[in-house]
Amino acid sequence: MLNVYLKKLRDKPVKNGHPWIFSGSIERIEGNGDPGVPCRVLSADGAVLAHGYYNKKSAITVRVLTRGDTPFTKDLLRQRIERAVAARRRLFESTDTDSFRLVNAEGDFLPGLIVEKYAAGICIQVLTAGMECRRDEILQSLSAVCKPDFIVERSDTESSGREGLLLRDGVVSGTLPQPLVIRENGISVCVDPEGGQKTGFYFDQRENRLLARSYAAGRRCCDCFSYTGGFTANLLAAGAASVTSVDSSKNAIDACRETVRLNGLDASRTVYLCADVFEYLRSLGEAPDLIILDPPKFAKHPGDVERASRGYKDINLVAMKKIAPGGILFTFSCSNAIDAKLFRQIVFAAAADAGRDVQVLHMLSAGVDHPVSLGHPEGEYLKGVGLKVL
Ligand code: SAH
Repeated sequence: MLNVYLKKLRDKPVKNGHPWIFSGSIERIEGNGDPGVPCRVLSADGAVLAHGYYNKKSAITVRVLTRGDTPFTKDLLRQRIERAVAARRRLFESTDTDSFRLVNAEGDFLPGLIVEKYAAGICIQVLTAGMECRRDEILQSLSAVCKPDFIVERSDTESSGREGLLLRDGVVSGTLPQPLVIRENGISVCVDPEGGQKTGFYFDQRENRLLARSYAAGRRCCDCFSYTGGFTANLLAAGAASVTSVDSSKNAIDACRETVRLNGLDASRTVYLCADVFEYLRSLGEAPDLIILDPPKFAKHPGDVERASRGYKDINLVAMKKIAPGGILFTFSCSNAIDAKLFRQIVFAAAADAGRDVQVLHMLSAGVDHPVSLGHPEGEYLKGVGLKVL
């Protein structure tokens, strides 16, 4: 087994449960190994602190799987998958939701592995070499625990490239229903796990979509960055006077229209625009009463923070200038590099520049199927605020 010795005084984060070890913390490595091989993590004085997997090609050299001297076995992998699945079953058993995140990487103590449940099937995303080495065991465990009708894979992300992984996607087993329709809080949505963005659907917004419903009745709404219409359908179902859905992707707008149709919602209250949200908001004549701003990740790397902050400020500023008095704004950032505190500072700076008085109604985050390990605050990537703009 590969032994990774940490520098003096660099063992505290591991002891506290942080699962990432960067090359800068490593004193020396005993042995040699291909990307993804199991390793032990030792303090400078030789105490075994953790077991994990190693990849010298990755910026994160070691990802920790267990603390202490406990090897990460096939059984342990299976137990963690079972625990994650059982937790979701309890959360969703008496709801009208049949689809959610089953395994949330570090948040379920399985760094590098995302699993989504889509109705009777699942979609997996392998993000690291360590999980790629265990791919067969993962598929076996998921098949045994979930008995899915189909398994589809979307291991084709930017980070898989950085880890030096094969880019894999497509159906692994079973037959993908065409169309694949999922249920979320009583709303049906068409999902394309093969061709859609990320793994096909943004489950992280489920609870925020539900919350947005409570403000929708009678309001003229804008669902900015609508993607497949998760917010749009919820707003319409809750009695919005109108919803304008804006996304720059034609496929997303087509899917959004299909979501509304699938749910038998009143199409005469909808407007679909394949457009740039920045331009759309700037050109807006009529003042909306409710705006959802759920943009893509503006900051992909820590170096992007300044530019991304300007983007978030810009878009929130124009939304706050345009929104009607008493309007509701749900605004989000899914950039890891912008933490919740910075995001609020940006939004508050936008409010100041817009010259509007703003009340905070809700602090928002990803839903309960996206647990975050307390030792890994980076897992809190989605943050948002629900505001009333006076
Ligand atoms: N709110 C959605 C998820 C949004 S994901 C949901 O609840 O499911 C971000 C979306 O922004 C993507 O669909 C992408 O196509 C779109 N997008 C990215 N840049 C854009 C821009 N400048 N203007 C409009 N849409 C944009």
